[in-house]
Amino acid sequence: MSKNKQPDLMDRIVSLCKRRGFVYPSSEIYGGLISCWDYGPLGAELKRNLKTHWWDAMTNRRDDVEGLDAAILMHPQVWHTSGHVTEFNDPMVDCKTCKARFRADKLEESRCPKRPSKSPLTCGGELTEVKQFNLMFKTFMGPVEDTSSTIYLRPETAQGIYLNFLNVKNSSRQKIPFGIAQIGKAFRNEITPGNFIFRTREFEQMEMQYFIDPAEDEKWFEYWRRERWAWYESLGVNVSKLRWSEHGEDELAHYAKAAYDIEYEFPFGWQELEGVHNRTDFDLSRHMEATGKDLRYADERYKEKFIPYIIETSAGCDRTILTLLVDGYDEVEVKGETRVFLRLSPKIAPIKAAVFPLVKKDGMPEFAEKVYNELKKRFKVFYDVSGAVGRRYARMDEAGTPFCVTVDGQTLQDETMTVRDRDTMEQTRMKTAELIEFLTDKVSG
Ligand code: ATP
Repeated sequence: MSKNKQPDLMDRIVSLCKRRGFVYPSSEIYGGLISCWDYGPLGAELKRNLKTHWWDAMTNRRDDVEGLDAAILMHPQVWHTSGHVTEFNDPMVDCKTCKARFRADKLEESRCPKRPSKSPLTCGGELTEVKQFNLMFKTFMGPVEDTSSTIYLRPETAQGIYLNFLNVKNSSRQKIPFGIAQIGKAFRNEITPGNFIFRTREFEQMEMQYFIDPAEDEKWFEYWRRERWAWYESLGVNVSKLRWSEHGEDELAHYAKAAYDIEYEFPFGWQELEGVHNRTDFDLSRHMEATGKDLRYADERYKEKFIPYIIETSAGCDRTILTLLVDGYDEVEVKGETRVFLRLSPKIAPIKAAVFPLVKKDGMPEFAEKVYNELKKRFKVFYDVSGAVGRRYARMDEAGTPFCVTVDGQTLQDETMTVRDRDTMEQTRMKTAELIEFLTDKVSG
């Protein structure tokens, strides 16, 4: 099998996403809106499965992490306290020739909009001085549009967690070390969004903040690095395309004591998927100072009240989806024809199995429909009778469906069906009860 990694691979993935209903350009009939994308039927299912997989790993399968769903709009003072209003900036430069705008710290990977597109470092255009550009989206709350009603769309989900630290502790009766996990939308007015769903202005984060005894920060930092790496492995991501990147002294955010990113090798280079940060007691201290509320932690194991340290794991949902699409995309030559396979893990594949009657006669459709209706109670499955069976397999292969179940002549004699594995192409015969057990096992991993 050939893993095709030519430069236009991203174009082919974008085209597959549109064709099969994973991702469409937003507001397409109006000409689209730059960097905004809509998840179609298969994409919505894939994203939902991914979030469930994260939520299960981070909350349901653990005793020490609680879930939260905080509001996107927060008191504007929160963003002054957190430092976002003054410090959440990216350096920006303009090209005096083509008027394009670039992130000054990402010039190497930027391309100008002129055709043929060139690097702003080599095109010869003169760049302006670097200006700082704040990435927060602003809007107004209530009918009056003035500075007193300015409110921000959150640029990260984490602040909702810090503000609810004591609420969650008190209502769940957790003791440190414990965490709070949240999945939700975040907004950043990125200077140069791009690379499909990699960098957008509206995106979803999957974040967890783990509150700990400051004396144990190194232990928990290492623990969460291991856990998060293992999570990508559990999704079946090719580990040779994953790596750690440590933030050097000059890159460390003002609040962080240590920070590592998990990076993936995309067709456009190594890029961040997730950050694991030791945020010290910065966030709770700042909110305590600003509000005068006592956010210190107390329990009988400690002599004095103290402000816990926080280990943060901050992942991008859309970036992980792109990773899965890139990592799973495969092209295979079959009888002179290029066939696309999307090798998604059964845990997160949008459709878990497709059911086909081999032909539309001899009672095969009736049997297949019965099996389909039985499976539908437990899994997202798809029934298809139209076209040659080879075509039906091909349609499911590029939709990422791991298993295809075919009802044939033998089924009518012994009730067994063929179950074809997308990746090994092996076919095994099973009856309905075995099939349910088999799929349950594969889907739950
Ligand atoms: P980058 O350096 O790529 O701008 P960042 O270091 O600013 O990312 P964080 O603030 O650590 O990112 O955000 C945590 C995670 O949220 C990132 O690892 C990424 O997966 C996701 N994320 C951040 N910005 C975007 C964006 N504009 N589009 C999609 N996902 C994003």
